[in-house]
Amino acid sequence: MQSYSLFSVLRESLRGHTGWRPTWRDAAPKTAYDIVVIGGGGHGLATAYYLAKKFGEARVAVLEKGWIGGGNVGRNTTIVRSNYMLPGNIPFYEMSMKLWENLEQDINYNAMVSQRGVLNLCHSDAQRDAFARRGNAMRIHGVDAELLDREAVRRMYPFLDFDNGRFPIHGGLLQRRGGTVRHDAVAWGYARAADSHGVDIIQNCEVTGFRIQNGAVTGVETTRGFIASRKVGVAVAGNSSRVMALAGRHMPIESHVLQAFVTEGLKPVIDGVVTFGAGHFYISQSDKGGLVFGGDLDGYNSYAQRGNLPVIEDVCEGGMALMPRLGRVRILRSWGGIMDMSMDGSPIIDRTDIAGLYFNGGWCYGGFKATPASGLCFAHLISRDEPHPLARVYRLDRFTTGHAIDEKGMGPHPNLH
Ligand SMILES: Cc1cc2nc3c(=O)[nH]c(=O)nc-3n(C[C@H](O)[C@H](O)[C@H](O)COP(=O)(O)OP(=O)(O)OC[C@H]3O[C@@H](n4cnc5c(N)ncnc54)[C@H](O)[C@@H]3O)c2cc1C
Repeated sequence: MQSYSLFSVLRESLRGHTGWRPTWRDAAPKTAYDIVVIGGGGHGLATAYYLAKKFGEARVAVLEKGWIGGGNVGRNTTIVRSNYMLPGNIPFYEMSMKLWENLEQDINYNAMVSQRGVLNLCHSDAQRDAFARRGNAMRIHGVDAELLDREAVRRMYPFLDFDNGRFPIHGGLLQRRGGTVRHDAVAWGYARAADSHGVDIIQNCEVTGFRIQNGAVTGVETTRGFIASRKVGVAVAGNSSRVMALAGRHMPIESHVLQAFVTEGLKPVIDGVVTFGAGHFYISQSDKGGLVFGGDLDGYNSYAQRGNLPVIEDVCEGGMALMPRLGRVRILRSWGGIMDMSMDGSPIIDRTDIAGLYFNGGWCYGGFKATPASGLCFAHLISRDEPHPLARVYRLDRFTTGHAIDEKGMGPHPNLH
């Protein structure tokens, strides 16, 4: 494995950076593996890493149709938090938060984990009551939460529009341990760590079909030939419905585009993550100085990995209502990613009715923060063929048994979650 140290940085800077080796091997597909993970996003790579490191699985491959980091793991707005309310969700996302807190030591890679705080603003008395309830639920589960009044928020961010005619700020719910993590470094860090434990990471290898015999998976057809495996994990995020359709299964998932935006670099303006409670808008500042923000989903279903103009207008309206000084900043870049929106807004980590075929998806627009816990729980499920205790609730059959985990209370309307 390529190792990094102060010495290696100094040595390479003196010889024109000609000695760096690839961070992970460009593996060619073998004819068979014990376990194949489809999707080289954060979840697939984390799964492969924990399969090899924690569960001792030796013959594991990750198949990625494009390049590592080209999906949502490298397109999100980098926010991590565990400020959920429902019993199934809080322990799972808190486990993820704890894994983030130790991730860089675990994988020996700088993912720029920054616990700069996540502040959700409220704009009415009813919303403040709802936040108090959520904060209490978090604290009962041992998760940090603080309810701030309007003046406490003003001390933190005096430039917000506190007296906006329609959406005055009443206060906020703060999770100080929440924050940001550099998204593509998470992909690279997990890829490097998985590779160092012997996982084959195979890029430009699209899965185009499944071989299923007597109700059990025996391998996958790919653009680089057939690969045999009796255990296949699907972790393809926005392409979940497409890939599972190759196995003849229809998932309770819709795909929608979500966009992100980055402005020109500015001096430090905003030192945490702030979310607008009267619309869909969230903002932070990257270490390079750009303001990073996002907002609503596109209402239409799509598999296109690109954005569109009406949503840009909608997101900028939200930003202006919260932080009018944004109007003077230039947006440099924007992009879109495909969201795997489940019918209750919560994820699925489960077996399927096809023996040896496991599914991980339905992350909606909150799956980045779940990456470590999702990888660990999916690896547990695939290796032991039984769910991790903290992921038992994320069953596929909950939509037929009525055990939906409707965190936002939006019902089966993915575009509203
Ligand atoms: C604009 C935006 C902002 C977001 N902001 C946040 C945020 O602030 N916080 C948060 O927690 N979450 C956020 N998310 C959501 C989060 O990024 C996703 O939920 C999460 O990254 C999905 O898991 P992944 O990393 O495995 O997905 P991906 O990186 O998309 O990985 C899936 C991979 O599967 C591959 N694939 C698909 N089909 C095939 C096939 N047939 N064969 C082989 N490979 C295939 C794809 O190429 C892709 O690389 C955001 C998402 C977007 C787009």
